[in-house]
Amino acid sequence: MTIKTIPFIKGDGVGPEVTAASQAILNAAIEKAYHGQKKLDWLEVPAGQKAFETLGSYMPDETLEAFRKYGIGIKGPLTTPVGGGIRSLNVYLRQSLDLYVCLRPVRWFKGVVSPVTHPENVDMVIFRENTEDIYAGIEWENGSPEAKKFYDFLHNEMGVSKVRFPETSSFGVKPVSREGSERLVRAACRYALDHGRKTVTLVHKGNIMKFTEGGFKKWGYELAQREFGEEIAAGKLVINDLICDAFLQNALLKPQDYSVIATLNLNGDYISDMLAAQVGGVGIAPGANINYQSGNAIFEATHGTAPDIAGKDIVNPCSHLLSGVMMLEHLGWNEAADLVYQALETSFARGCATTDLARLMPDGKAMGTREFTDYIVSIIKG
Ligand code: NAD
Repeated sequence: MTIKTIPFIKGDGVGPEVTAASQAILNAAIEKAYHGQKKLDWLEVPAGQKAFETLGSYMPDETLEAFRKYGIGIKGPLTTPVGGGIRSLNVYLRQSLDLYVCLRPVRWFKGVVSPVTHPENVDMVIFRENTEDIYAGIEWENGSPEAKKFYDFLHNEMGVSKVRFPETSSFGVKPVSREGSERLVRAACRYALDHGRKTVTLVHKGNIMKFTEGGFKKWGYELAQREFGEEIAAGKLVINDLICDAFLQNALLKPQDYSVIATLNLNGDYISDMLAAQVGGVGIAPGANINYQSGNAIFEATHGTAPDIAGKDIVNPCSHLLSGVMMLEHLGWNEAADLVYQALETSFARGCATTDLARLMPDGKAMGTREFTDYIVSIIKG
């Protein structure tokens, strides 16, 4: 018998509701697939508002330690603390564990209403770089002594004269490294090969930001050729690239042309949410933050704490649930993962979903979170 311990953060707002729903559904799928031979041992670890109130810390050390020790874990959404200390708990977790890939698979489920005419053509996996770029948090507010010092350096030492309004400008720095780009593109190529996906598209804005975004593209191609040259020569892997604005357009017009996307942090942020909207929105888009070298991975719902609907039994648990399914796939427990996919497909095809999705379906039957959870469990049990 295999028992895998999974540290989990319940999260704030709707976090406890989506966590309970996912755990019930994942447990049912595992039981059905492996008849008691495999099991998840859920280990709650503190974080967020509840941890702050009881332990005086939004992210206690024991939580980070548990994620390190057990390798993988799952989290519900966390309220971003206002003022002082940690800027964002999610960013803190990603940085502390160096989770350099933000993995966002995007696929459509039949029955889910979409703003595009052929959502079935959307089937992409986004590898978003998670540790660099303008997101690294290196910025200075306009009017601050630091902003002035930084501008003086640019102007006096670097000969920069292009800042249009230097006195009132804030400044941000965009580091993009060879190592950071290479490990991201390596993970995307490896994933493509392991999952029978042929094309990896490097999405960048290298026509304008030649050394940062252009560097990403150049290093990406070089890495792919150096480490996956044989597979490329054998036609098992194709690497191409596209400017980000063209990609955003093409992803709407001909999404079937794209499979695995490797991109920088900010582009990846926009791309992930746009593609999620094409298949049904935030309630259904899962994600994971992964370090493929250390093996650390945290799976998470991509939406926030949704305080406006917390405690009302109407939240859609699918984003969190599907991130749990990604976790099962990460463990190689594909039989259980497939059972959840099939149950969701059955449910959506019958118009059965939480309100956010059901109200858009022609014959939608809106269910509360608990009712929907029980319904999915009953489909899995058969
Ligand atoms: P949000 O995602 O919480 O909510 C945006 C809107 O979408 C709301 O109307 C909400 O009701 C709806 N919504 C979100 N998830 C839903 C679901 N599963 N089912 C049905 N409807 C859903 O974004 P926000 O309001 O900007 O942020 C609220 C808080 O969450 C903030 O403190 C923010 O910092 C935090 N946040 C956390 C994460 C995270 O932990 N990963 C991500 C984003 C935002």
